[in-house]
Amino acid sequence: MTRTGEARLLSGFETALAEHRLHMVYQPKVALRDGHLIRVEALVRWEDPELGAVEPSRFVPLAERHGLIDDLTQWGLRTILKQWRRWRDEGIETCVAFNISALSLEHLDFPDLVERMCRALDVPTDQLVLELTEGATQPLIKLMDTLTRFRIKGIGLAIDDFGTGYSSLMQLRQLPFTEVKIDKAFVADITRSRDCRLIVQSIVDLAHGLGLTATAEGVETIEQLRLVRELGCDLAQGFLISQPLEPSKMGEWHRSFRSAWPKMLADDDLELWSDVEPDALGQR
Ligand code: C2E
Ligand code: CA
Ligand code: CA
Repeated sequence: MTRTGEARLLSGFETALAEHRLHMVYQPKVALRDGHLIRVEALVRWEDPELGAVEPSRFVPLAERHGLIDDLTQWGLRTILKQWRRWRDEGIETCVAFNISALSLEHLDFPDLVERMCRALDVPTDQLVLELTEGATQPLIKLMDTLTRFRIKGIGLAIDDFGTGYSSLMQLRQLPFTEVKIDKAFVADITRSRDCRLIVQSIVDLAHGLGLTATAEGVETIEQLRLVRELGCDLAQGFLISQPLEPSKMGEWHRSFRSAWPKMLADDDLELWSDVEPDALGQR
């Protein structure tokens, strides 16, 4: 991005934050055992009047670079906790997952703040999950104290995009995670590639061995859903199950998904790997 491009994006983002022009959408994660809604992941959206829809993968790193990430984190948390309260009042029971930048975890008092915010809205801390991705500059291991404080309060911790980038096996052993989210790159190729199936199976076994929940991200087809289920993943998330939704659509989605779920699993004899192309090794 050029300097002027970045400056323009930055001033637009500052205005959006100040004028409450950001909003959250929510993507359901369901249990592969029975299709029940287990949690929703909050994903931030920014529609700029001039720039149009700007993707979080552009403006979250921008906020990190320019000291605005804590403002984004606090706005995000307030927004999702208030929405969560509304759902609970409407009888929609779900846990909520929130993406958090490792930079916001550098403050040791942050877990107390989150707990106070949950208490103020009477939402349970033990049904909140924070999703973390390790970046090049903030190894998660440095955040051990903050992460432990979250766990003491019952707040769950998911390691996001597992298997790519900087996430490592050592972190799984040393940090108090509760969930592993298998990156969508592996799920995308799972029906075509034996290697991907092996990797997913190994991550699931590893997660279960360590007592963690294994979630498959980016499930887009029925074949992928059935395969990740067969490989033992606990939860699934992706466009097949639902696009990220406006909060008012959650009740409607929930009703229609309940009737769609049995059909997704029907015809169990389907040969899932029938159109598998051989991997480099020529094996299935
Ligand atoms: P992520 O946490 O890995 O989020 C999943 C991304 O995959 C989302 O993109 C989602 O819309 C997309 N996705 C969901 N299902 C599918 C699918 O079936 N196929 C494909 N191809 N994609 C799918 P999104 O919303 O653009 O978010 C991108 C990233 O931005 C997120 O990746 C997360 O790291 C970050 N992010 C989003 N919201 C927030 C936030 O409120 N705070 C922070 N710090 N980061 C956020
Ligand atoms: Ca995430
Ligand atoms: Ca992810």
